[in-house]
Amino acid sequence: MAGIFHGQSALVTGAASGIGLAIAQALADGGVARLVLNDCDADRLAQARDALARPGLAIDLLPGSVDDPALWRAATPLLAGITLGVANAGIADNGAIDTMDFDAWRRVLGVNLDGCFLSLQAMMLAMIAGEQGGSIIVTASVSGMKAEPGTAAYAASKAAALHLMRVAAKEGAPHRIRVNAIAPGGVETPIWSTTPFFRDMVADLGSEDAAYAALSQDTPLGRFARAEEIAAQAAFLLSTAAGPTTGTVLVCDGGYSL
Ligand code: NAD
Repeated sequence: MAGIFHGQSALVTGAASGIGLAIAQALADGGVARLVLNDCDADRLAQARDALARPGLAIDLLPGSVDDPALWRAATPLLAGITLGVANAGIADNGAIDTMDFDAWRRVLGVNLDGCFLSLQAMMLAMIAGEQGGSIIVTASVSGMKAEPGTAAYAASKAAALHLMRVAAKEGAPHRIRVNAIAPGGVETPIWSTTPFFRDMVADLGSEDAAYAALSQDTPLGRFARAEEIAAQAAFLLSTAAGPTTGTVLVCDGGYSL
């Protein structure tokens, strides 16, 4: 990994926690010269900057919500020169269709799809202007590929993000911009504890580890992934090792979707 991103500039959204933070770490370990880190949680974003700081790495913060068009208009100067982009910010939801509140539906689609579109657009505009090409990944989910009850808004947002990625791959290709997606299954990150059903499982089973194990019963590999493992998949797609690959989905779900 050392040096594979030497001297490049990268944007990561949702970079204060979980998979986004692990990808930012992988980019820093790979030698990027500049990181632009976005998150809506400004305090945790500042903590992420402190954790990632090292000699030779410039880190700029872009606090704000990915679904806010004004954030991206203001970010244009900050994004000049980026050649790596990670549209990762997302929120979870576990509402069933018959009980789902429309505001909850809109909130999930807003962050996970509108936010994905706006950040992807900002990345592509910066890369087209820079004329150096680039590599972008979208953090989708296996939920966008395999239907499960109680995941309507999240699953719809991730399925749409996957197809948005494919269109972006075709539009980016003439500019030497590759666009791919990762589709994780269960990953041990704080996103799970934002859902009432997971909190109930933890209360019943006694620990998050026990809840992760219970949720992994239908997964052939029998376990959740760690954020660092997903970040390694993302780093591969971002790197020139995946040079001929665009418009594809790297499923990292322990076989759950088989
Ligand atoms: P996480 O909660 O640890 O991290 C998500 C980060 O996104 C947080 O720092 C949060 O503050 C930020 N965020 C949320 N809304 C935002 C917004 N509107 N604007 C900017 N930042 C925002 O969760 P994670 O598991 O690391 O999730 C990262 C991505 O991975 C998400 O897109 C998620 O859907 C996807 N994913 C996660 C799993 C999993 O099991 N953890 C599985 C598949 C896909």
